Parts: sequence; C-alpha cells; structure tokens
Amino acid sequence: MLYDVIILGAGPAGLSAALYAGRACLKTLLIEKAMPGGQITLTNDIENYPGQLLEGESGFSLTERMSQQADKFGVERAYDEITAIDLSGDEKVLTGASGDYRAKTVIIATGAHPKPIGCENEAAFTGRGISFCATCDGMFFRGMDVYVVGGGDSAVEEAIFLTRFARKVTIIHRRDQLRAVKTIQERAFANEKIDFLWNTVVEKVDGDASLSEMTVRNVVTGETSVIRANEEDGAFGLFGFVGFAPNSALFEGKVEMKGGYIVTDEDMHTSVPGVFAAGDVRVKSLRQVITAAADGAIAAMQCAKYIEEM
Ligand code: NAP
Repeated sequence: MLYDVIILGAGPAGLSAALYAGRACLKTLLIEKAMPGGQITLTNDIENYPGQLLEGESGFSLTERMSQQADKFGVERAYDEITAIDLSGDEKVLTGASGDYRAKTVIIATGAHPKPIGCENEAAFTGRGISFCATCDGMFFRGMDVYVVGGGDSAVEEAIFLTRFARKVTIIHRRDQLRAVKTIQERAFANEKIDFLWNTVVEKVDGDASLSEMTVRNVVTGETSVIRANEEDGAFGLFGFVGFAPNSALFEGKVEMKGGYIVTDEDMHTSVPGVFAAGDVRVKSLRQVITAAADGAIAAMQCAKYIEEM
C-alpha cells in the first residue's frame, strides 16, 4: 500500500495534520507508538486554546475530540514504533515492528519529552516518588508533601494543580525569579499551600521502597541540606518540570536539525523534499497546542500541493 501521507505522532500537530489530510481526500496513515494525544494529555487544565471555555477541559479530553474528528475523515491508524526510515526517494519507507510503511510524503510530528531533573539516583526513583506528570500521579500524594522542580509555566501551573492533593507544595527553582508568565506567577504567590526554595537545585534523591530523602544545594552559598519526609508519611513526591527535549533521534543525519530540533520553513518543509515537520519537534519560538495544530494543518496542505506537483 502506498499512502499519500504518513503522519508520525498523534499529538495535536499530528491529529490536526490527519484531519486536514483526510478532509483533503489524501490517503492518510497516522502512526503512533503509544496512546494518541501526545504530551498535552499530561496537562490537567487547558485554558488558552481559542474557543475553549468548557469547564474542566483537560489535555486528554481536548485531544480525544481531535482524535475522533480525524477518524471522521477516514484516516487510517497504525500503532507501531518506527525504528528506521528512508526518506531519500520519491517513495518514503518507514520501518516498524509490524513491517514497512510507504508514502509519497511524510509529516514528522513526534513532539518532545520531559527532560530529567538531573540528580543522582533519579532513574531509580522515577515511578517511586519522582514523576513528570501531575495529572497522572498527583493523587498518590494526597495529604503529603510535594516538591516541584522548575520555574517555567509547566512547573508553576502543575504546582498549583498539585495543591488539590498535597499538604504543601514547594517549588524548587535554580534562580530567585520565576520564568512563568506573570498571571500564573500571581496565582502561585497567592496560594497559601505553595512555598518556594529559591536558588536551589536537587543533587541527590534517596529512600527505601519510596522516595523519602533528598539533598538540595543552594547555588549562591554552595550550602547543601537534606530534606526528609514527614515521619508519619514516610515519603514525599518530587515532580520535574525543567523543560522538554525533542523526539528526533530517528531523523539525525536525514533532515537538517538545530540543537536536536528539525529545521523547517514557514510552510513546514524540511530540508528533504516531501518531508514535513510539525509541532514541538521543529525549531520554533512558541510550543503550544495552538501552534502545533496550525503547523499540522499547514503541513497537510503542503503534502497535497507536493503530490499534485509530483
Ligand atoms: P521552560 O519554559 O523551558 O522552563 C523550564 C524551567 O526549568 C525554567 O524555569 C528553568 O530555569 C528550569 N530548568 C531548566 N533546566 C533545569 C535544570 N537542569 N535544573 C533545574 N531547573 C532547570 O519549560 P516549561 O515550563 O515546560 O514550558 C515549555 C514551553 O511550554 C514554554 O514555551 C511554555 O511557555 C509553554 N507552556 C505554556 C503553558 C501555558 O501557556 N499555560 C503551560 C505549560 C507550558 P531558568 O528559568 O533558570 O532557565
């Protein structure tokens, strides 16, 4: 089977590309390795997607509707992890566990993943106290102490969300000023359950079955101190929101990249004819659901144009 378009990744960029490609009557395959929705499914509240006024709209519910909308236009789906690609010819070949997929055009919408906090023992305690998803894991820390690392929009918004469950949420930030936008900052400063540990980084985490101890360092004074779990709780939560890194390793050496992100022009063309990139995986100034969705729409329309001119 030769598809007109194969879209890699079913986050907002891929789902929007699928909707536009399906609606343009292109034979479209959307490949996703896990659950559709992408990173935004980790976000509990969406309040800056235009037209979004539904009470309690989460990343999951928004992308679920995007997914249904793409299905309405006949987009095919495959759940597979692509491990090799050949983008050089007129027929692009993507190889996954279930075999080869072929298409005239490819849209790379593989998104990004959360960066690790960068402390000692982090891998050992991930899933045992360390988490990168407040929506998924916040409820495990009901009535307990929770620490959030980072000072950007994600860290501060998710810290506010975590106050629904936690006794107290402490934001650990490496500087003495937050990066998050002012409106989000103000909400955090006004929240009595939120404390701040400024100029501080996490050096090491420890514990037995669960996370119960961490060493932090003040980057100004150089002083280190140990934070221990409340005796009755015996554990605490540590959430990392220190930014994201692109899911682009597969395309290394195949398309032009900058700092791991795929370079495109404003019509989402990569350096390879017939190959487009959309969403968080590409070089851009604003990584949001709305810009990912816009990228996907543009990329799909450019696929149609490319096929017409082939
Ligand atoms: P971000 O803006 O890159 O912020 C990362 C934060 O982590 C920064 O405060 C940074 O400190 C800190 N950090 C980075 N590396 C660190 C390390 N190794 N150790 C300790 N701290 C470290 O990431 P983000 O907050 O995830 O946001 C990503 C993008 O999504 C942004 O464009 C953001 O605006 C957007 N976003 C928007 C919304 C919204 O509109 N509601 C919500 C979430 C995210 P410094 O400040 O010192 O650099």
